[in-house]
Amino acid sequence: MPRSYVGEARKRVGPKRARILPIIERLLREHADAAIALRFRSDLELLVSVMLSAQTTDVNVNRVTERLFAKYRTPEDYLAVPVEELERDIFATGFYRQKAKALRGTMAMLLEDYGGQVPRQMDDLLRLPGVARKTANVVASELGEPQGIVVDTHVRRLSQRLGLSRQEDPVKIERDLQRLVPRAYWGIFPHLLIWHGRRVCIARDPRCEKCVLNDLCPSSRIAADSKP
Ligand code: SF4
Repeated sequence: MPRSYVGEARKRVGPKRARILPIIERLLREHADAAIALRFRSDLELLVSVMLSAQTTDVNVNRVTERLFAKYRTPEDYLAVPVEELERDIFATGFYRQKAKALRGTMAMLLEDYGGQVPRQMDDLLRLPGVARKTANVVASELGEPQGIVVDTHVRRLSQRLGLSRQEDPVKIERDLQRLVPRAYWGIFPHLLIWHGRRVCIARDPRCEKCVLNDLCPSSRIAADSKP
């Protein structure tokens, strides 16, 4: 959108504080099935899936973990095989050397410090080798205790397009969203933006004409195109 329209567009849709609840409500109706796409049956499988999902797709991770989780059931299992074997088993997710190293470090710490259980607090999750803020946020949220808001590439793009944050850095975007989104929605909110980003607000070709948010969105092409 040309710069001259930006101020007008913001005026047209109103302040973000007034828009956030209608945005959430409409997205909840539109994407009632929004949920994590990774497949897992335990806290440990969740943690491993999220760690493997860095730099690859959820579909790819699910393909790999189907066999992986039949073989590795406990933290001890990841430490019982030579590292080269674990690398081979996760090879298709990419960055397999770093990921194998992180998985083994994490399993050792789970056994040593957490009785073999996956912790639920961000401070503990962030101590695990190879677990950065996004991974910790996803795990805490899926375990029912969101303590932040996951910011991935879709959340970042949609937050900017919807005028919810002007920041580029994911940590700063998360801070903006935490101030704006009511805490009860911290877990579901990123899923809503991710699904909306995949289905409607696509990176290169946003389908504004089909978007339920187009009257609430300062970046809507519909509103910009309909200007005299
Ligand atoms: S109106 Fe367009 S730019 Fe705004 S959220 Fe919808 S698809 Fe994305």
